[in-house]
Amino acid sequence: MREIGHFIGGRNVAGKSGRTADVFLPMTGEVQAKVALASRAEMREAVENAKAAQPGWAAQNPQKRARVLMKFLELVHQEYDSLAELLAREHGKTVPDARGDIQRGLEVAEFACGIPHLMKGEFSENAGPGIDMYSMRQPLGVVAGITPFNFPAMIPMWKFAPAIACGNAFILKPSERDPGVPMRLAELMIEAGLPAGILNVVNGDKEAVDSILEDPDIKAIGFVGSSAIAEYIYGKGCASGKRVQCFGGAKNHMIVMPDADLDRAVDALIGAGYGSAGERCMAISVAVPVGEETADRLMEKLIPRVESLKIGLSTDPDADFGPLVTAEAVKKVRGYVDLGVEEGADLVVDGRGFTMQGYENGFYMGGCLFDRVTADMRIYKEEIFGPVLSVVRAKDYQEALDLPTKHEYGNGVAIFTRDGDAARDFASKVEVGMVGINVPIPVPLAYHTFGGWKRSGYGDLNQHGPDSIRFYTKTKTVTSRWPSGIKDGAEFIMPTMR
Ligand code: NAD
Repeated sequence: MREIGHFIGGRNVAGKSGRTADVFLPMTGEVQAKVALASRAEMREAVENAKAAQPGWAAQNPQKRARVLMKFLELVHQEYDSLAELLAREHGKTVPDARGDIQRGLEVAEFACGIPHLMKGEFSENAGPGIDMYSMRQPLGVVAGITPFNFPAMIPMWKFAPAIACGNAFILKPSERDPGVPMRLAELMIEAGLPAGILNVVNGDKEAVDSILEDPDIKAIGFVGSSAIAEYIYGKGCASGKRVQCFGGAKNHMIVMPDADLDRAVDALIGAGYGSAGERCMAISVAVPVGEETADRLMEKLIPRVESLKIGLSTDPDADFGPLVTAEAVKKVRGYVDLGVEEGADLVVDGRGFTMQGYENGFYMGGCLFDRVTADMRIYKEEIFGPVLSVVRAKDYQEALDLPTKHEYGNGVAIFTRDGDAARDFASKVEVGMVGINVPIPVPLAYHTFGGWKRSGYGDLNQHGPDSIRFYTKTKTVTSRWPSGIKDGAEFIMPTMR
């Protein structure tokens, strides 16, 4: 049995707590590895290591820090195939989809290579008589990232690449369900020239997370996961004076206007609703056709497409999606489908009975499609996180705009239309952080920022892009007068520039 420990001080170390969790092979349902769950003492060891290494790293000029990331990009590219395979085998998503997971992470590492420019401060000459004023951005020290199972390459890179480029040392606490790729990424960072102690991976569960929350030497936490845990971490982290950003769950709507190109809308719904078995925070889980006629035409095209989805092994290049991450996840998603039937929604495609021949113990589930879901149902209000799409029929544009606006989650949303005025009005008014216009999964690229609103995001700075540099640095502003010093004598009133 493969054992996964931690990566502390630039090397792999075995877990010492005596506690482990199973890492499954979702394709077959077998346990493929045991991952160590860190104790408080092990977390402390990693923090001390990071704290000792960080000042030296911060003192390196930013070009040199960027060069480590450049080398890291090269090393990941050399290992792309094996990393994607490892990722697919632990998560369950298909190998081509796993490549996308790696790529969207690398793009943030590419962005962070611009750190010499990104960390430049501001300078005002002659802000007063003989006075110059300038600001600089300095790293926070030791910072931490706590990441979810569903993007085990992308989200760790979204966190550690900008944080490390800024001169911080980083503690990553990845999901215990698929820790293999984060561990390998840390090894590659060291191979790329990162000093030992600057990137540590400490595997674990609530105990490891609580140790991060309580550690006075950890200055900032970036979290991504479900909203209940996001709220817990945001509350506790802020109360102990840390800088915290937490990104939570989602219920992303796609509005289909009567003038939309329905074939394109259906393609978009199939890919965005069922890709990665719906285990994406930007998956579309609610389709909102506007008007009964649009809804009927949409359902006519959608039903056969959902019925013909190809579910396969994670290693099958022709599969539309693979298994879910764990048996527990399948149970939860099936439970929501049962609930939807009880609540009175029309289950027009039922994937609950799907089994994969020869892999009966794998964590598979077929695509499910509900029609006539209403806003008071729990299957509408709650995040299901599986291959289940709900159709909510809206009578007009205003009702369609109100649905995502009033929903407690506000991560992503999309509108499909040919009408620029409707799209513009929607983008301006909808209470959601990321909006797609004829684009179903509007994940902003690395040089913009990513973040949801309402219960999908806590804290005022987003992930990646310029916000990540602000999040992982603090501003120092210097007011300097040369060479007259204070020869004019003491001043007792507040200096102003009047
Ligand atoms: P999760 O909340 O179960 O776990 C996330 C992290 O928190 C993991 O590292 C886990 O070990 C830790 N954790 C779990 N339970 C904990 C507890 N009781 N106390 C302290 N820490 C705990 O989330 P998940 O199932 O791994 O990921 C799926 C969720 O993440 C979905 O809700 C999805 O929408 C969300 N997500 C959001 C975004 C975004 O950017 N908004 C991106 C990806 C995923």
